[in-house]
Amino acid sequence: MQKFSLHTHTLGFDGQQTELEMLKQAEKLGWSHIGISNHFIVHPNIKKSPMYYYAEKGNYAAIYSESFDEAVNKFALHYQKIDEINQTAKIKILKGMEVDYFDNDNWRDGFVKALDYLKPDYIIGSAHFVEKQNILYNSHDVKVAPQIEQNWMLHRYWQNVRAAVSSNLFNFMAHLDLLKKVNVGCGTEWFDDERKTIEVIKESGVAIELNSSAFKFCDEPYPSKRIMQMAGEADIPVIISDDAHKSAQLGNCFERTEEMAKNCGIKKFLTPHDIVNRKLDAKLLINSRSRF
Ligand SMILES: [Zn+2]
Ligand SMILES: [Zn+2]
Repeated sequence: MQKFSLHTHTLGFDGQQTELEMLKQAEKLGWSHIGISNHFIVHPNIKKSPMYYYAEKGNYAAIYSESFDEAVNKFALHYQKIDEINQTAKIKILKGMEVDYFDNDNWRDGFVKALDYLKPDYIIGSAHFVEKQNILYNSHDVKVAPQIEQNWMLHRYWQNVRAAVSSNLFNFMAHLDLLKKVNVGCGTEWFDDERKTIEVIKESGVAIELNSSAFKFCDEPYPSKRIMQMAGEADIPVIISDDAHKSAQLGNCFERTEEMAKNCGIKKFLTPHDIVNRKLDAKLLINSRSRF
C-alpha cells in the first residue's frame, strides 16, 4: 500500500491541525513522506464571489487571496514553519500547494513570480471554480444553477481542467470529477468531456490523483471508475491522495482505492520522487528569467 500522501491541508488555511500534528501522524503510520498542499487561490474578484461569504462564516476565508502578494505572504510564513519543523524531523515535510489555475496572462505571470519566491517542492493543479463575467462560482453554486446555466458551467469546468493540464505548471492534477460531490456531471452526456480531458492529460504527460476522500459520500474515489478505466487504457500515471484536512484522515481508504485502480487497469503508481522530479514549464521559465 502507498505509504505517503502529498495532498493534505493544515490549520491557518482550511485544515484542522498543525503541520507538526500531520507529520507526527505520518511518522506513526510508518510513512516515508508527507507533503502539505494548502490552497493557493488568487483571483482579483474572489472576495466578491458568492462563496466568499460562506468561507468567512466557516472561518476558512484564508484560503482565498485577491492578489499574489497576499497569497505569497501567507505561504512564506507557512513554509517557514515547515522549514523549522524539518530541521529536527525524521521524515521531511514536502512543501506543496494546491493551485486553482486561471487561464490568462496576468495570472500566469503572477504565479510564476510567486513560484520563483516560494520555491515549492511540487504543485497540484485543481479546478474548484467556474468563472463567469469575472466572478467565481463553486460546486455548490453550480449545483443550484438553472439547468441551462448548469450545463454551460459543467462544460466550462472541464475546459478549465484541460487548460490547467496544458499549462504544464503542475506535478499532478487533483480530483478530476470534483463536481460529483454535489451529484452533478455524473451522467453519460459528460463522457465526451471526460474522454477529451484524458486525451489532453495523456498528451501532456501529467499524472492524475486518485483522491480517496470521495469515499465519504460514494463508493469510488475521484475520479470515477469509468474515468479510471480510460486512464488505465491510456497508461496515465497516478498517485493516491487522501486530501486530509486532519491527521485522522491520513491514508484513509488507500487500500480500497489502489485495489479499485488496479481493477480498472491502472498500472503506473508514482512515488514522491517521481512527482517532485517532473519537469515543469514554470521552472524552465524561472531559470530562463534568472539568467537575464
Ligand atoms: Zn481540492
Ligand atoms: Zn485539497
